[in-house]
Amino acid sequence: MAQWEVVIGLETHTQLTTVSKIFSGSSTEFGAAPNTQASVVDLAMPGALPVMNRGAVERAVKFGLAIGAKINRRSIFARKNYFYPDLPKGYQISQFETPIVQGGGLTITLDDGATKFIELTRAHLEEDAGKSVHEQFDAESGVDLNRAGTPLLEIVTEPVMRSAKEAIAYAKTLHNLVRYLDICDGNMQEGSFRCDVNVSVRPMGQKEFGTRREIKNLNSFKFMQQAIDYEVQWQIAEIEDGRKIQQATVLFNPDTGETKAMRSKEDAMDYRYFPDPDLPPLVVSDEMLARIKASMPELPEAKCARFSSQYGLSHYDALLLSQDGSTASYFETAVNAGADAKLVANWILGEVSASLNREDKTIEQSPVNAVRLSNLVARISDGTISHKIAKTVFEALWSGEAASVDAVIEAKGLKQISDSGTLEKIVDEVLAKSAAQIADYKAGKEKALMSIVGMVMKASQGKANPAQVNDIVRRKLA
Ligand code: ADP
Ligand code: MG
Repeated sequence: MAQWEVVIGLETHTQLTTVSKIFSGSSTEFGAAPNTQASVVDLAMPGALPVMNRGAVERAVKFGLAIGAKINRRSIFARKNYFYPDLPKGYQISQFETPIVQGGGLTITLDDGATKFIELTRAHLEEDAGKSVHEQFDAESGVDLNRAGTPLLEIVTEPVMRSAKEAIAYAKTLHNLVRYLDICDGNMQEGSFRCDVNVSVRPMGQKEFGTRREIKNLNSFKFMQQAIDYEVQWQIAEIEDGRKIQQATVLFNPDTGETKAMRSKEDAMDYRYFPDPDLPPLVVSDEMLARIKASMPELPEAKCARFSSQYGLSHYDALLLSQDGSTASYFETAVNAGADAKLVANWILGEVSASLNREDKTIEQSPVNAVRLSNLVARISDGTISHKIAKTVFEALWSGEAASVDAVIEAKGLKQISDSGTLEKIVDEVLAKSAAQIADYKAGKEKALMSIVGMVMKASQGKANPAQVNDIVRRKLA
């Protein structure tokens, strides 16, 4: 049986964060009553003319600069003609031959730490269509045009990904980047970040690509993984059964985990693209370009490098902390509040992440905010509590039992015992009952010492300062 290679290219529709639409002044706010946010332009009333939204252009340029792309200083809007109830004009305004952003790329990091550069073909500005609504109707459909004219940046990759893993890593990296740049809110449930995944397979070693099928509108990383896995095994099975893959657009059904052809893919020719006579060429001026360059935030890659050099973090920890903007800012807020950076990093990647995952919360929703975590870590560093007790304090803070780190330590009597008189007394009591361990230790078994220290810790209900206990026990047994 032949070995198969998977080939994947992604087209991602990112909804830009402008307050108003791409060619009209209507609001882009999500969730309004149907057709309350559609102006004459969005409704395609005869004679209504589009006016370019500067904010959408700025966001596209920001993206292009972030990925090292060429910014076309003069790009063209085109009409993409097709007929569908949610498209009142009968065409979508998009960019075809000359998009605003061309080339560039993103570096992705896979689970095993390997990196790969994903080349982008282009990113172009376009308007979203409206939405057909079926649920509230019996034997008829409604059309909601609130979404018509919402600004999108469609970001297209070259067919350079070779596995579902790479495709997901790319989609996640892109998702992080657009949120870093604050050009898209990334809300996948509301459709602000939708991926079309083009998949083909070819025998390992073959130069030509196989015929692709395009899985439309995936709005979660989990579905993306499932859809690609299914599609790949389906295509391989088809070819091995002697059938040919037909180019098609397919939909993923989350209930069955299967992909199903929606329509055979139209030729690009069918859209009868032509330059939109209502819109002049889009010009990015020197002034605009310079202003946006000056306003670029620190990007994930640069932040990762800085985290490891400035705070002495491992590359892996720095990468995990810099991948999304909220985690990065949580980390730096905690460090700036005075706590040790490495300890803070360990806590975020350990307890904080585990608790967030368990409750399916984002770091912005963490009940333990950055300053509180910083205070907790500071109490470990200054010897007030041990690491182990700190977990108890963390849990109490997480469940909202007390308002501050010190209040929890106080209320629960968790303060570490560092008073040597008190510690010596506990050690003496434990030693009095540990003849066997003492004999073992004197016979050269280091482990016996650890077990005595363990008993002392237990006797102090975890509150003894472990380093001090260690010293005292060693001294007494010497
Ligand atoms: P269209 O304009 O018809 O959507 P494009 O040529 O622009 O087609 O390609 C769309 C996407 O499909 C791009 O992301 C590209 O990388 C990807 N792609 C093209 N050919 C293949 C293939 N044989 N297998 C997988 N992906 C492909
Ligand atoms: Mg396409």
